[in-house]
Amino acid sequence: MKSRSRQKSRRLQPDLQPTTMETTVRRHRRIIMLPFPFQGHINPMLQLANLLYSKGFSITILHTNFNAPRISNYPHFTFKSILDNDPEKRRFELAEFSKDFIHNQDGGDALLHELGLLVASGLDENERVSCLITDSYWHFAQTVADRLNLPRLVLRTMGLFCTTVYSSIPLLDARGYFTLDDSHLEERVAEFPLLKVKDIKKIGIESGEVGYAVLIRHMVKQTKAASGVIWNSFKELEEPMLERISRDFPGPHFLIPFPKYYTASSSSLLEQDRTIFPWLDQQPAKSVVYVSFGSLSQVDEKQFLEIGHGLVNSKQRFLWVVRDGFVEDLTWFESLPVGFPGERGRVAQWAPQQEVLAHEATGAFWTHSGWNSTIESVCEGVPMICSAFRGDQPLDARYMSDVSGVAVYLENGLQRDEIARVIRRILVDEEGKEIRESAKLLKQKSDLSVMKGGSSDDSVESLVDYISSL
Ligand code: UDP
Repeated sequence: MKSRSRQKSRRLQPDLQPTTMETTVRRHRRIIMLPFPFQGHINPMLQLANLLYSKGFSITILHTNFNAPRISNYPHFTFKSILDNDPEKRRFELAEFSKDFIHNQDGGDALLHELGLLVASGLDENERVSCLITDSYWHFAQTVADRLNLPRLVLRTMGLFCTTVYSSIPLLDARGYFTLDDSHLEERVAEFPLLKVKDIKKIGIESGEVGYAVLIRHMVKQTKAASGVIWNSFKELEEPMLERISRDFPGPHFLIPFPKYYTASSSSLLEQDRTIFPWLDQQPAKSVVYVSFGSLSQVDEKQFLEIGHGLVNSKQRFLWVVRDGFVEDLTWFESLPVGFPGERGRVAQWAPQQEVLAHEATGAFWTHSGWNSTIESVCEGVPMICSAFRGDQPLDARYMSDVSGVAVYLENGLQRDEIARVIRRILVDEEGKEIRESAKLLKQKSDLSVMKGGSSDDSVESLVDYISSL
């Protein structure tokens, strides 16, 4: 396909096909993996599963019916649906989902039952179950694993910096940050001088023991109790955080940048529009800003219009992902500038993101700063414009702009003039040169890290040895 010839970098290995794995020595050991059922959590878990399969482990993926993975894309894994097999228990919203399976013991009991059967049956007489790897949000899985005497490793799908901040949420709450009024938004946070009060408030924690705060508290506690933590990251990206993380979370840590090994296309829950490639192929090198705000973020109509006008006013080329449900009001297209998106622009409902980032024509990524998007961009050397809606996003945005120096943080909301100015800065203006250079350098570090003897390669090897020793 033509677009492939325009890719400036390649995955170290293509998406895994079972036939390519026939030569791998199998270890007769099985790993049971449980992703959290949202796109930004499913992708890294399945990338990790591919990596471990390529190292000879057999893989069983436990999953919910809600956002079930695309099983047909992974004939080399065993899949088993658990937890929401009762139609009454299928929930289609994060809040409902969390209430049912994460806050109640309900989920723990169901998981214990399913896992107990799997482990007891031995699956296959030539194989034994080495460990359970779950998303960090399945915190109750630690108690379940303990009861079955099964080591549990955690996949933490967010960055180290975010996780150190998250582990300090009770402290930040006790010091009143979440209830400070707007006159304090620009002040620095004494405990994390990198952050402003507005970054902390944007995480979306309500003060006291409710909602997201409870989930995070359990997540932190049970991640500390796990037999190890796997991160979708690499040492050179988050070096300043390593000491603190090792202190806060005592188990071994494995930092592996998954986008360097596999794309996440096979685990996409939505159909990816590949017709964008002939258009991208016609654009000059590094001329396009790719705009996508991930799988969950939403904007209102006013914000949507600011984005649309900002893109047009920048007079730069753009590829904008407008996911179904991205705008709360469905009349959105009518309010965009006449003739939108015009010759310079292209709109898609969902894109093969990593391939777009790897395309020669892509010069910048305007992202919502979800961790997968962030690390995918870093791995392809694409400088970022960071917006941030909630959760880890404001923390990732701050880190990418102020520590890594590969992004501009659009920290004051969405205003068309500012948007147009920042797009020009990051794509073409002299003022953005340093950021573009830093992004290139960071990509080189990520490239080196996965080569033999590099930090990520070492992490993969230690993870394989560690799991083999369990
Ligand atoms: N993604 C994609 N196509 C798109 C937009 C996003 O395949 O058009 C993928 C992206 O590559 C990433 C995931 O969806 O792996 C989004 O995860 P992230 O952590 O960035 O954000 P979330 O959706 O969890 O907010």
